[in-house]
Amino acid sequence: MKIVVKFGGSSLASAEQFKKVADIIHADPHRRFVVPSAPGKRFDGDTKVTDMLYGCYDLAEAGKDFDGALADIKARYDEIIEGLGLDLTLDKEFETIHEQFRLKAGRNYAASRGEYLNGIVLANYLGFEFVDAATVIRFDDAGNFEADRTDLILSSRLKDVEYAVVPGFYGAQDDGVVTTFSRGGSDITGSIVAKAVHADVYENWTDVSGFLVADPRIIKNPEAIEAITYKELGASVLHEDAIFPVRKEGIPINIRNTNKPDDLGTWIVESTCRKPKHTITGIAGKKGFASINIEKDMMNSEIGFGRKVLQVFEDNNLSFEHMPSGVDTMTVFVHQSEFEHKEQQVISGIHRAVHPDLLDLESGLALIAVVGRGMRDTRGVASKVFDALA
Ligand code: ASP
Repeated sequence: MKIVVKFGGSSLASAEQFKKVADIIHADPHRRFVVPSAPGKRFDGDTKVTDMLYGCYDLAEAGKDFDGALADIKARYDEIIEGLGLDLTLDKEFETIHEQFRLKAGRNYAASRGEYLNGIVLANYLGFEFVDAATVIRFDDAGNFEADRTDLILSSRLKDVEYAVVPGFYGAQDDGVVTTFSRGGSDITGSIVAKAVHADVYENWTDVSGFLVADPRIIKNPEAIEAITYKELGASVLHEDAIFPVRKEGIPINIRNTNKPDDLGTWIVESTCRKPKHTITGIAGKKGFASINIEKDMMNSEIGFGRKVLQVFEDNNLSFEHMPSGVDTMTVFVHQSEFEHKEQQVISGIHRAVHPDLLDLESGLALIAVVGRGMRDTRGVASKVFDALA
């Protein structure tokens, strides 16, 4: 049995959190490969180390004095090292970082140091080997992640390693230039490591006890979801790139709470014959949409109508989120922030492409998704949902 464990920033924000993490890892010897994020917020209003690094590098790039900002970052690590009573100093690493910032090594390099340093501290504390992600996670010259090459390099590197820490979020190109995934990308590293070592489980430790059936800011004490399939999950909750490597290998993801390690969390699985506890697995919502409503008589018998409309969105480099339609109406939902500055081009494009009878826009819209693998076998779900809305 092999378990890959990824710990998010809030799980590693302070010495106290590091101790919880070590307890969790030592509680099960199968937890062999650890992927840490950079230290996150210790309290509301605190700043994540990744954001401190971006800010510090911006100063360096602008040719301003960044010594103070870098010292603040070092203080975050020193506080952890001291709190854990480690015989470790990051002086050398910070000297190198200072020099690289001065040489303008790039924002990706800057951001990656959060995970890099946290990995060194965690490996030292656990007594695990430190494997620098720059040596095993590969990106091409254009900065795209190279899945197959990484898998080869990483699996052979970790083949004979019993216990290791591989920092999340970054990797490097062949020429050594450090590259990062998008924000929140340590989830992706965890998934890549799980695939490479053929893990039995990918545990993703965070500060909530898994996915909840509803938003706790709206519903008081919502239940946690025991098991959810990738399909139910959609792309919105975890980064799609984080799911892909493990999904392809049939490795389940278990979302767990570092602050409540006894909670079982949520299992994310390809498929399960366990009957869902509830017909509806969860309800999710997203704000910030605009809709383009198009009406035209006989739209239903006009061949290629939908394609021509969508072509206008593609030509304007816009993706669409949802597209409900009727016999003579079609509505396209887009992210308002992406759409706003292109709206007039889209409107004129649609006029030219399909000559609608009517075209109007709405904004400030939210989408609500009701999700559940049990729904298709249950009568009356739609009626209950619409009843609740009414
Ligand atoms: N530290 C990075 C971020 O703040 C990556 C991560 O935490 O997953 O986005």
